Amino acid sequence: MALIAGRMSRLGTENAFSLGDDIRRCVERGMDVIRFNLGAPDFRSPPRLNRVAAAALDAGRSGYCDPAGVLPFRRAIADHVARTRGVEADPERVVVTPGAKPPIGYTLQTYVDEGDAVVYPTPGFPIYESWIRFVGAAPVPLALSADRNFAFTADDLAPLVGERTKLIILCSPSNPTGGVLSRDDLAGIAELVRERCRPDVRVYSDEIYEHILFDGLEHESIVSHPGMPERTVLASGLSKGFAMTGWRLGWAVLPTREEAAVFKRININVMSCVPPFLQEAGAAAYEDRAVAAEVRRMAAAFERRRDRIVPALSAIPGVRCRTPKGAFYVFPDVSGLCERLGVYEACESFHKGARSRTTPAGMLQMFLLYRYGVATMDRASFGRIGAEGQDFLRLSIANGMEDIRRGVARIAEAAEDAEGFAEFVASEDGEALFG
Ligand code: PLP
Repeated sequence: MALIAGRMSRLGTENAFSLGDDIRRCVERGMDVIRFNLGAPDFRSPPRLNRVAAAALDAGRSGYCDPAGVLPFRRAIADHVARTRGVEADPERVVVTPGAKPPIGYTLQTYVDEGDAVVYPTPGFPIYESWIRFVGAAPVPLALSADRNFAFTADDLAPLVGERTKLIILCSPSNPTGGVLSRDDLAGIAELVRERCRPDVRVYSDEIYEHILFDGLEHESIVSHPGMPERTVLASGLSKGFAMTGWRLGWAVLPTREEAAVFKRININVMSCVPPFLQEAGAAAYEDRAVAAEVRRMAAAFERRRDRIVPALSAIPGVRCRTPKGAFYVFPDVSGLCERLGVYEACESFHKGARSRTTPAGMLQMFLLYRYGVATMDRASFGRIGAEGQDFLRLSIANGMEDIRRGVARIAEAAEDAEGFAEFVASEDGEALFG
């Protein structure tokens, strides 16, 4: 009998967190590392919200509370959804979760049986693929392409939807690409779902980046389209837009009270409830106009950084960078850079020895980190299925302008250092990482 149950081998990870060990190693060697890897805003949580949480704590609201979430927060979420998506949202269909990550696993556990098919975007948030595999479902990747600015339409989705489809995952604005689905794209997708899918098929709409849109775009949601509120699990939270990643405040709006009760039951089984004093601040986040203004200021800062980093990266030989329309990531194609540095040959020789599962972008990622102190994420970190032959890196722009300037300058320097790359691959670091 094995110590660890077999199913755990199917649970994936989020490399943005696991890269922490490599970064620590570099820092211990005295390197100054610019962290383009983590998707966490560099802003502090709004002081007004800090004060609400502290006051609630001082007032003694520190015990267990309703596992679905305290009613004032659920009401604030329902009002926010009604206001921004133009649909009615009943607080009894809202469940508060510790961040926007848990509803992904809750959805897979609630709706998907072994052998059911799940359509999901790739490159995409890696936790989708992790949970799809964990529940024994058939992963059906929907490949996003740089040429289409990482958006897609019903025509792209149609061939992937069949009899076995139980769940379709959407994420707009998207991590890692910054791609955004337009109102028309979503209208077409909604029509396809209404016409081709049984009523018990669900759409999971991950809208955690709803507050971070550029070029004057407004957030669009699939739930705003006819027939979709009754088929969509809408998930979002405060982590990204409000710069509150460590608070762990997220939520889901379920199609029915019955489905919300299942999510509540999972909460009860896993963590009982989200701390009530945090939820009071959560309610204020959606109700306080001054906080809304702060959220807009942060989104504007991300847009200025995008406008700085995209041309700067594109000026590096071998890097092609699209202009994201939302979220706080850029996702440049680095195949030309891999070519210049001799990464493909190096990767090939590791593969020939059957010693390594690394990808060219993965090798470049480690070279940039270990030799130039720039932490990025490689394409394979955003879904392994279908990642072969795609060489991209994700850089988070949730970093100040000065770090962006220094980080890009280091990448430009690395782009001229084919010799350094060869030395790195042959070094103890290279052996330890890829051998
Ligand atoms: N969904 C997407 C697309 C994300 O990028 C993230 C975080 O990176 C999450 C969900 C999880 O958010 P949270 O930190 O609120 O759990």
